[in-house]
Amino acid sequence: MTVELISVGTELLLGNIVNTNAAYLAEQCARLGLSCFYQTVVGDNAGRLAQILHTALSRSDVLILSGGLGPTQDDLTKETAAGVMGMALTRDEHTAKRLQEYFSRRKLELTENNWKQAMVPEGAIVIDNENGTAPGIIMEKEEKRVILLPGPPGELIPMFENAIAPYLAGAVPGVIHSQTVKLCGIGESKAETMVADLIAAQSNPTIAPYAKTGEVHLRITARASAEKEAKKLIKPVVKELKNRFGMNVYTTDEAVTLEQAVVDLLLANHLTVTTAESCTGGLLSARLTGVPGVSEVFKSGQVTYSNKAKHKLLGVKKPSLDKYGAVSENVAREMAKGAALASRADVAVAITGIAGPDGGSSSKPVGLVYIACRVRGKTKVKSYHFTGNRNKVRENSVVAALTLMRHCILEYYSEVTFR
Ligand code: ATP
Ligand code: MG
Repeated sequence: MTVELISVGTELLLGNIVNTNAAYLAEQCARLGLSCFYQTVVGDNAGRLAQILHTALSRSDVLILSGGLGPTQDDLTKETAAGVMGMALTRDEHTAKRLQEYFSRRKLELTENNWKQAMVPEGAIVIDNENGTAPGIIMEKEEKRVILLPGPPGELIPMFENAIAPYLAGAVPGVIHSQTVKLCGIGESKAETMVADLIAAQSNPTIAPYAKTGEVHLRITARASAEKEAKKLIKPVVKELKNRFGMNVYTTDEAVTLEQAVVDLLLANHLTVTTAESCTGGLLSARLTGVPGVSEVFKSGQVTYSNKAKHKLLGVKKPSLDKYGAVSENVAREMAKGAALASRADVAVAITGIAGPDGGSSSKPVGLVYIACRVRGKTKVKSYHFTGNRNKVRENSVVAALTLMRHCILEYYSEVTFR
């Protein structure tokens, strides 16, 4: 079954808003195993919208439209799509009642144009909007389906998750099952190169790489008559990916995050942890403490931003700060040591770097970050050169720190060595 996405809105064409709905819907369709060959953006113009609807219906099975379902004059998606599908609009009493309730609950006046939202194409499936007033619409005619969704992402996303995804999954024969292999400590292009042959040869299951900040996720999706069969198809692929990526695989469970994997590793080895952060200002301890059950292992976290704090709270030597500078291998090492001694934690992680936009120099450019990880007296320090803005550098530093922690703990307990 092929899906085509049509985003309606002049604001999108003018670049006033970013088309996040299309990105979201495309990813969800891929997740459902549906092929999406075309995406279009069209302004709030009935003639041009009708034209693209005719074209899309000639080449795709399912059209998903977003935007233009509101009460105003320029919202004309429903009227136009119903016209193209040859369906008349009639008043839907259920939606009318919901509208009335919505407005009276908020003590808002229901103006005449709002009733427009209670008009639906005859015979269409109407989907209640739990977060706004415009209902979603599904029109079915001669093997073609046209789905209309409200533009605001806060309305579109829950509606897609609750109603459209199950509807589309039910429209495809058989079941679709997917599993994600999550990698850390490896770049996107290297990971892709390592599975290029598998991707080129794939049909069922398929492998799709997704790059996240500092991570690569490989989603394997299989289609089969039953879930058990689909899982059977996926299993050898997961095994092969584990073979190829070895210790870079931190989980094969969709629900497990990198910080969860690190906390699990700490728990399994009865290790306590402490953090000493400079440029990340506590983001690492925030990520770690976001994991339920972390209290068993997390002792404390310090934000030592100034040189004075690094010296006073972590015992970083003044000569080291003077000679090498706060962003240096030596200082990162001393920060981890000081944090470990002060807290008596088994694992201490320290981050010091230049997040920018200022503060860089030719020898120490913006994005230079040193991370030290000390596991029971054994310390490893790595330097990183991140690109991007201040936020990106900070985010990347946190992921790199989690990755380094994982590697150091694994190294400590086995013979594996990581670069
Ligand atoms: P409303 O009832 O709010 O008018 P609508 O269904 O008519 O909803 P639009 O008027 O097209 O939708 O868009 C409303 C708002 O939703 C936009 O101002 C924008 O913030 C957001 N929006 C619309 N389309 C998209 C899109 N493709 N991607 C991201 N956001 C969008
Ligand atoms: Mg609108």
